[in-house]
Amino acid sequence: MTALPFISRRLSRRVMVGHTAIGGGAPIVVQSMTNTDTADIAATTAQVKALADAGSELVRVTVNTLEAACAVPHIREALDRKQCNVPLIGDFHYNGHKLLADEPACAEALAKFRINPGNVGQGEKHDSRFAQLIDGALRFGKPIRIGVNWGSLDQQVLARLLDANQTRTPPLPLAQVMHQALVTSALESAAFAEAQGLPADRIILSCKVSEVQDLIAVYRLLAERCDYPLHLGLTEAGIGSKGIVASSTALAVLLQEGIGDTIRVSITPELGAPRTQEVIVAQEILQSLGLRAFTPAVISCPGCGRTTSTFFQKLAADVQDYLRASMPAWRTTYSGVENLRVAVMGCIVNGPGESKMANLGISLPGVGEAPAAPVFIDGKKSVTLRGEHIAEEFKTIIDDYVRAVYSSKENDSLESAPSARPHDTLNKLLAQCDSSAKISVDERE
Ligand code: SF4
Repeated sequence: MTALPFISRRLSRRVMVGHTAIGGGAPIVVQSMTNTDTADIAATTAQVKALADAGSELVRVTVNTLEAACAVPHIREALDRKQCNVPLIGDFHYNGHKLLADEPACAEALAKFRINPGNVGQGEKHDSRFAQLIDGALRFGKPIRIGVNWGSLDQQVLARLLDANQTRTPPLPLAQVMHQALVTSALESAAFAEAQGLPADRIILSCKVSEVQDLIAVYRLLAERCDYPLHLGLTEAGIGSKGIVASSTALAVLLQEGIGDTIRVSITPELGAPRTQEVIVAQEILQSLGLRAFTPAVISCPGCGRTTSTFFQKLAADVQDYLRASMPAWRTTYSGVENLRVAVMGCIVNGPGESKMANLGISLPGVGEAPAAPVFIDGKKSVTLRGEHIAEEFKTIIDDYVRAVYSSKENDSLESAPSARPHDTLNKLLAQCDSSAKISVDERE
């Protein structure tokens, strides 16, 4: 186990998927999957790009037909032309052995093959097709993910374990046999791949189920029995808040135990919701656990009878959207900006206290309070905003803070470490900023 401040991560082998490392202590990788017809090159390219721009570090596409396989190299080229180098993963079921053999350009363009051992045929067909898939991985130098799913569990493995269970006294509960069958299918498939010549450091495993307690039990078992890197995900998690909560609950337990090298949140998007939602949720899970930071965090209270209007909610959402929208540009310029914490609070009860603990905080006036919003910078009250332009002025303060504190990528003289925040520089910046006419320094300061 490698020791981190709060979490000891399970030691696993490192597998390279294109330029992205999975396992072996590498940061936990966020991945996602498209829902476009892969044969539609323009639509799939656009969605992969959107997912990558949102922060997906690997993107999986289904490769289910010859047309889809033929499209993959064109999608790769189109992404490269857009300077989008996110590795593409091909999702194969039933006919992957044939598609990889018939379309070598597809195999070449992919950074990894996902193989479901429950969907490569039965009996002798299973072994010969699986061998062909492994042969493809060997020929093109690609890693694979053996992705077991309980909706398509290898029936021969399950039947064998059920038979063996009948000889036990007493027999194990059915759920436990199912867990063992999932893990056995993954491990036997990995052993088969290695026997075909695929090195262990080109194999990633997953065993997805759709119930939280089952997922936790299965991955604990799998983690104990191998050192392959593990891809976590609650499959068919559901729609909207149900899918988000179920995925977060299951993944958080496992990640807290150090299990998991890459994650996907398989939520059914609500109608009209962007596909990128699953990427944001995955990032939020990792960031909430303190495992990775992707975007500045907004700490906002829920509001209550002390909040006078919806202004507080709007400001919190506005600041969150602003930070997220700014990140693509900030990421390339401002080192460590993803660790920024901004508090947007609704009243004096917890507002100043929470604001002081953030890098930047604003405490809006609640019922009966003077119409003034003190701003706190690194724990110190700085200015008080009033009037109709509080949102714009607060965003200006955020911009100034980011420029002053996280500029190490363009100015080596400024350290990005949060402990080296230049309060004085910031206060000078604030005093000089264009919006100073609208900002009155609080007399009580
Ligand atoms: S900080 Fe104030 S407005 Fe926000 S939840 Fe607490 S009491 Fe209510």
